[in-house]
Amino acid sequence: MRLLGAHRTLPDIPDRAVILCFHGVTERRLDPDIECDVLTLPAFRQLLDVLDRSFNVVSLAEMVEALVQGHALPPRCITITFDDGYANNARLAAEELAARKMPWSVFLPAGLIESGGWQWVDDVRVLLQRGSRKQLQFHWEASDLLLDLRTPKLRLQAVRTVHEACRYVSEAVRRIRLGELYACYSEDEIASAREQYPAFAPMTWNQARELQSAGVDIGNHSYSHIALAPQPTDLIHQEVASARDLIQQRLGGYHPHFSYPYGRPEAISPQAEAIIREAGYRCAVTLEQNTIDFRHPNLLQLPRLIVSTDVGRVLFGLWQRFIR
Ligand SMILES: [Zn+2]
Repeated sequence: MRLLGAHRTLPDIPDRAVILCFHGVTERRLDPDIECDVLTLPAFRQLLDVLDRSFNVVSLAEMVEALVQGHALPPRCITITFDDGYANNARLAAEELAARKMPWSVFLPAGLIESGGWQWVDDVRVLLQRGSRKQLQFHWEASDLLLDLRTPKLRLQAVRTVHEACRYVSEAVRRIRLGELYACYSEDEIASAREQYPAFAPMTWNQARELQSAGVDIGNHSYSHIALAPQPTDLIHQEVASARDLIQQRLGGYHPHFSYPYGRPEAISPQAEAIIREAGYRCAVTLEQNTIDFRHPNLLQLPRLIVSTDVGRVLFGLWQRFIR
């Protein structure tokens, strides 16, 4: 891959840095009709090897400290984070990162770690793609929604439609909509669809504890992984504070970093930011696809770049970000 060597000619630009957001790593490539950001192990290794050779990986705490103090960071500075607390982070990613002595952070949706529950976005992916239903009909608000599930392409479209309809809405609306969807599948069918995709299973507190003992930074990714901005104030507070308290209770130690669920502008608000600050967080990371501007950083809305499965493209994007 020619792109892999392109960054070697980069000038050193000390006034910007990048936080990467990974989600998961898996041994077996997921079916192409399951759209997600889970990397295969070889792709993950390839990416880490390039980061190791040609970039400077620093911890999130180091990056935040430098931003607070106005200290210089090394050129081509990268921070590695993982969102969502999938078991594969502990089972596969941790070993690769440790072998390269790379610091990293993992953000846990604490309530899902506690219950062993799956994220609804992943349930929707596997149920609509692998479930028995060929069609689903919902009565959401004034209009009826008919989802045609007869081909993989139509199913993928349906997954996107449901994700869109349930992501940036109030928890009350999300519960009603997803309640209707879950009611279309038996418990056995849900369990069997999940079994086919262990890549989406959450880690356990024991795994989180092992990561923490190995020096991995554990952060708060809310309690139940819902977009904060559309929620009423008391629910935002509850999502932030109850996850903070549960992580503290289960792991001990100091966890000063927060990651907004879904991280896009629709999931973020001044009110959510204020609540995160009041809950004692030193920084919060988003999914605004951008570099960190050292001159005007907002520590409670630090942008990150999502790492997709197309590693060549990720590296090309990184290379571009460090060109003035
Ligand atoms: Zn997330």
